[in-house]
Amino acid sequence: MSNKGEQNGMFGVHRYGEANPFFGQHHTEETKEKNRQAHLGNKHTEEQNLENSNRLKGRVPYWLIGKELSEEHKLKLKANVPRGKDSPHWKGGEIERVCQECEKHFRVCPALVKYGRAKFCSQQCSMTNRRKRGDFGQSPNKSEQILIDLFSQNNLPFKFVGNGEVWLGNRNPDFINTNGKKQVIEFLGTHWHPLFDEARKVEHYKKYGFDCLIIWEDELANPDKVAIKTKRFERVKKCKL
Ligand SMILES: [Zn+2]
Repeated sequence: MSNKGEQNGMFGVHRYGEANPFFGQHHTEETKEKNRQAHLGNKHTEEQNLENSNRLKGRVPYWLIGKELSEEHKLKLKANVPRGKDSPHWKGGEIERVCQECEKHFRVCPALVKYGRAKFCSQQCSMTNRRKRGDFGQSPNKSEQILIDLFSQNNLPFKFVGNGEVWLGNRNPDFINTNGKKQVIEFLGTHWHPLFDEARKVEHYKKYGFDCLIIWEDELANPDKVAIKTKRFERVKKCKL
């Protein structure tokens, strides 16, 4: 007898595709028939049925994945999903906090409070507060300073405001056009910004009528190119204000 369940060395091991020893092979008709006969008449016990039923509750069954469902059907499936307190992800609900900057009441997950976070209702309030406390010794940072110098050398009308001076919605752009054009520049460090950040930021500023130029940190290796790129960006749009 082989070891069953957790006793078996292969318990919980799944080997898909080429990793599967049976990859690319097929059972013969004879083997298939043998298998069929061996399982014929096997029935799940009540216990197994109940277990399967509980396991699958609230999940989209594999035969429905990617299918268009009727609204009625969707509601039915939704009703099956445990929510709030019944959900296995329930963390005790949100609690109310008062923003230390704008004194607005807001709700947060208690886990954040535990780690000393959730002092402010928004990133804007957090940065405004830091600015007040003069907690921006690092701003502008080295790379931002390179850009500031580059812009001034090339007479490019962009001012550094990345220390929280200017806000468009919940975002604080790094540079803003000082010639009245609705333009901002965001400077992205390559390490901590995923590539899709670029599109997201451009999209965000567009909502406020601003064009956004993205400059990546590694572009600083070639300052002339950055200057040309910025000049071109600055020239494109006529004064809108
Ligand atoms: Zn606030």
